[in-house]
Amino acid sequence: MKTRIESVRERIRTAALDAGREPESVRLVAVSKTMPAEMVRRAAEAGLTVMGENYIQESREKVEALADLGLTWHFIGHLQSNKAKYAVRLFDLIHSVDSVKLARELDRQAAKHDKVQDILIQVNTGKEASKSGVYAEEALALVREAGQLDHLAIKGLMTLPPYFNAPEKVRPYFRQLRELRNRIASETLPGVSMAELSMGMTGDFEAAIQEGATLVRIGTAIFGERQ
Ligand SMILES: *Cc1c(COP(=O)(O)O)cnc(C)c1O
Repeated sequence: MKTRIESVRERIRTAALDAGREPESVRLVAVSKTMPAEMVRRAAEAGLTVMGENYIQESREKVEALADLGLTWHFIGHLQSNKAKYAVRLFDLIHSVDSVKLARELDRQAAKHDKVQDILIQVNTGKEASKSGVYAEEALALVREAGQLDHLAIKGLMTLPPYFNAPEKVRPYFRQLRELRNRIASETLPGVSMAELSMGMTGDFEAAIQEGATLVRIGTAIFGERQ
């Protein structure tokens, strides 16, 4: 696993330098969904500090089992409002906020914990029925609404584009997210940051970095194939 992690880090570094960016401007989120806690522990021992999880029940167990490691946990899966209370307790950043209803419930739960919850707005750039996220043209309205909630801090946008086995086919969706980010940032809404762009996975993270990704979510290249 150490070799795999080093190779991913090197590829991130090269992609950033090729794009004229600081390698430190890209953070690696290791997607540990379905991987047992012991495997995540080994990844942490090999130097990874940010883990991405998709399922609340599974992550509750892992976060507890690995509490001694001081890891940062990101939620990247689809989140139902009735699980918001767990998400606020467990996660430092929630990448997948895609409705006013969910934003309000996260705000309510964060208030109870006296927390300001960092979130990203998930955008369904490919307009796929199977994927979560708001359409690009709805994103500004959601940012405006969620930005007014005292216990949420919007940090940027996330996308899970259509699947192609070819990074060049995914690139237009990454570009679309960056352009949308720039449009929303130009509104300079109070309490809203558009600093983060969460995009890029094992098959396409280099293209995502060239298009401006600040958070790449990588599972398979680190942990191997999921069952
Ligand atoms: C599983 C998952 C990833 C990681 O995918 P890999 O191809 O294994 O790198 C990234 N983002 C989301 C939202 C995921 O669900």
